[in-house]
Amino acid sequence: MWNCDWEYQHQDVLKNCYERKMAGRPYGKSDPVRKIICEGCGCVFYTRIWSKKYCYYKKCGNTGYKKQLIQRRLAQPPRTQVCKVCGNTFTPKRSDALYCSNACRQRAYRQSVTDKTSGHDDHL
Ligand SMILES: [Zn+2]
Ligand SMILES: [Zn+2]
Repeated sequence: MWNCDWEYQHQDVLKNCYERKMAGRPYGKSDPVRKIICEGCGCVFYTRIWSKKYCYYKKCGNTGYKKQLIQRRLAQPPRTQVCKVCGNTFTPKRSDALYCSNACRQRAYRQSVTDKTSGHDDHL
């Protein structure tokens, strides 16, 4: 049985296989042992599993996955918007948000109402 648990518990055996292979000594033809750097913790790990990326999935599998998610999130920084009323920079919750807060939105609304009213008065 070549599973993750076995490999994790028998790193010395796999390391031995790998070193024999590298030295050109017989190590068993059915052992395609590889040396990988764990994507989770960065440690050296010896494995026969071709798809392996982490030293031990229970330890680093999830961490590595989370790290990838964080990196992906960092690649897209949150969009910021400048409030039309107070000029503060804020992160809009909605893509069409124009104001940093309800207070500013109300201020802008009142402003527009006043403008319309005064414009009307001027016209008269
Ligand atoms: Zn690891
Ligand atoms: Zn504002």
